[in-house]
Amino acid sequence: MPILVVGSVAFDALQTPFGKVDRCIGGSATYFSVAASFFTEVALVAVVGDDFSEADASIFEGRNIDVSGLQRIPGEKTFFWSGEYGYDLNVAKTRDTQLNVFANFKPELSDSQRNADVLFLANIQPELQLDVLHQQEKRPRIVALDTMNLWIDIKRDALERVFREVDLIIINEAEVRQFTKEANLIKGARSILALGPQTLVIKRGEYGVLMVTKDAVFAAPAYPLENVFDPTGAGDTFAGGFLGYLGSRSELTDRELRRAIIFGSVLASFTVEKFSLDRLREITLRDVYERYQDFRTLTHFDDHEA
Ligand code: AMP
Repeated sequence: MPILVVGSVAFDALQTPFGKVDRCIGGSATYFSVAASFFTEVALVAVVGDDFSEADASIFEGRNIDVSGLQRIPGEKTFFWSGEYGYDLNVAKTRDTQLNVFANFKPELSDSQRNADVLFLANIQPELQLDVLHQQEKRPRIVALDTMNLWIDIKRDALERVFREVDLIIINEAEVRQFTKEANLIKGARSILALGPQTLVIKRGEYGVLMVTKDAVFAAPAYPLENVFDPTGAGDTFAGGFLGYLGSRSELTDRELRRAIIFGSVLASFTVEKFSLDRLREITLRDVYERYQDFRTLTHFDDHEA
């Protein structure tokens, strides 16, 4: 089982300065699995209600995504999130969160799901993240997690327990500050790494990504798009590109981690061009490779002359 992801599959209502949609497919595990499936096989563990139609589920079809772990609960409703952005697209304002089917979700993993090579605990209640981690038969090669301000606010202790058990944390800069109460990001990163993880990847929206390990710091810009339409899902898509690439490689060197950061950034740059997963649906691996090369050009500079 290459990559196992647990997280939300959702309906979102979104408002950005450029448009509005009352109901579209979203969810942390949805963006993650579609992005990761460009590189490797993904198995999804999540739950939806019977309002999630076959047409909605078609987002996972024709890709390397095993949906046998996607449960459908009759008579219940799918997770719902409503979010809004002002002109600063780095800040999402939550208008409403309805856990619905996730409120009592306790998945029983199958044998193959208990043997993940890479496990991604996408944004969802920390107790559910821990439960899926503890059902693994042996320690996966990589265990990574994402979360959000809501869980730092209301489930801090449970979240800190998960932080202590993972190798890699992928969160945004406001969450680093909120969790550590530290204004300086590098200091904040050090205090998160002190809990146990080897790598912290800090998502900084339009300013790119900062990766901090015990020995190194790597910074990548975001792709300079002229038309950013809707930032929803950028973080989960980033994580999908990042871990999907790593999942397809045998080594976890600094070199591979840096490539993975760029692949994550490339995938995320597509997501924000349209609402929901509309842009991700259109692209091919060739588009991904082309934009990866654009990133190389964007960030290349020569050594100075003495
Ligand atoms: P992001 O990549 O951070 O923009 O994540 C956006 C996705 O997160 C949306 O599609 C939402 O459905 C999902 N989401 C929002 N709030 C939560 C939550 N509390 N738990 C799980 N997923 C959420």
